Amino acid sequence: CAAAALVVRHRMKSSGRWAKVISILKELQEKCETPTGKLCQVADAMTVEMHAGLASEGGSHLKMIISYVDNLPTGDEKGLFYALDLGGTNFRVLRVQLGGKEKHVINQEFEEVSIPPHLMVGTSEALFDFIAAALAKFVATEGEDDNLSPGKQRELGFTFSFPVSQSSIASGTLIKWTKGFSIEDVVGQDVVGELSKSLERVGLDMRVAALVNDTIGTLAGGRYNHPDVIAAVILGTGTNAAYVERAHAIPKWHGLLPKSGEMVINMEWGNFRSSHLPITEYDQTLDVESLNPGEQIFEKMISGMYLGEIVRRVMCRMAEEAALFGDTVPPKLKIPFVLRTPHMSAMHHDSSSDLKVVGSKLNDILEISNTSLKTRKVIVELCDIVATRGARLAAAGILGILKKLGRETVRERENQKSVIALDGGLFEHYSKFRDSLESTLNELLGEVSEKIVIEHSNDGSGIGAALLAASHSHYLEVEEP
Ligand code: BGC
Ligand code: MG
Repeated sequence: CAAAALVVRHRMKSSGRWAKVISILKELQEKCETPTGKLCQVADAMTVEMHAGLASEGGSHLKMIISYVDNLPTGDEKGLFYALDLGGTNFRVLRVQLGGKEKHVINQEFEEVSIPPHLMVGTSEALFDFIAAALAKFVATEGEDDNLSPGKQRELGFTFSFPVSQSSIASGTLIKWTKGFSIEDVVGQDVVGELSKSLERVGLDMRVAALVNDTIGTLAGGRYNHPDVIAAVILGTGTNAAYVERAHAIPKWHGLLPKSGEMVINMEWGNFRSSHLPITEYDQTLDVESLNPGEQIFEKMISGMYLGEIVRRVMCRMAEEAALFGDTVPPKLKIPFVLRTPHMSAMHHDSSSDLKVVGSKLNDILEISNTSLKTRKVIVELCDIVATRGARLAAAGILGILKKLGRETVRERENQKSVIALDGGLFEHYSKFRDSLESTLNELLGEVSEKIVIEHSNDGSGIGAALLAASHSHYLEVEEP
């Protein structure tokens, strides 16, 4: 009889636990809801902040950085150029042979090097010396058909994917680090100066001809292939957007009006925030405990660095308050950032009837074994809530840009297409995220959606930087009058 009572008590306890799990899940779902109306409010807030950021320096959380790119590639670019792409967990070096209108990219080679984590939080010298050394090694592999004209200095397009206050096309100071980087002595420094010192130290004679954000590089690379590209969005470790603005719509620009009448703006939308954003307690604690508290709020709800971490935080609460994984909280689950977004994506896409991928990820990464199907279903649901919110918010951001440009409504007699170049690992590899982003855009745009095209610009930012180096080369042939 006593044994029977125990069993009953245990059952009650476990059904109580389960009810708690479901209530945590439901609560998350409600807080993360992004109905169309809310997304429109987010888009409108984005448009308002864009105006404010363009009006004056520091006028908004959106920095709306002037890129000094007032001409996008035309296809005429010619010659051998290098590019260096720094901004996530890897950096890439590229060599591109541009052949002008007829031939476009004749040849391109690249190498990818992963950045040792300690260099992401070390000193400026250590980071830039490491990069310069890798670049020098790559330059040494230049072949016979890499036609660098004799006597010419090599030129580089430097893609640096952090907020930089540009002072010209080839100089700018780091405003702050984002993503996993934190090297105090670079903040406020000219990053081209830092790189150039390292190039000198390794004995590489190379001039930085263009310093660009990855969004700007992607926009340039996108435009090279499609004349209708008007904006670029990165959805990767971090997130950001750039677009082509009319120069006279930039009150804070006091320079000469560019001949093109246009200027590319690096929005730094990762730092967007608004009372309309569906922020949860998990987002708040993630932010407080992050490397950059109070910063990059939009980015922390959307990008690849953070999605897995949000999921981990919810799982942690379910383990603590509802014993989802048994009487103790699995120790691994307590480690920040152990659950990466690629793991989350793999679980989210598990289509097996017993969710075996979910089971094996939980086992391999978090050392949680023998999970029930019920538990695995909760995890998939959790991934879905977090990824869907991120994708829908990104779509709202894109709508904000289209609204700023007056391209969100169908106009009579105007048959213009607007192409948006997208890149980044999250967009490229997380299909459910990408599908949700695309369907949300259709939902938001209605019949206009036919005129808005999302185009994957595969590694466009490297090529784009090389193209911008070409159009800002010292050796530009002077046009005949
Ligand atoms: C940076 C941006 C960058 C984006 C995507 C953000 O964290 O602030 O400059 O474009 O990540 O790489
Ligand atoms: Mg990149």
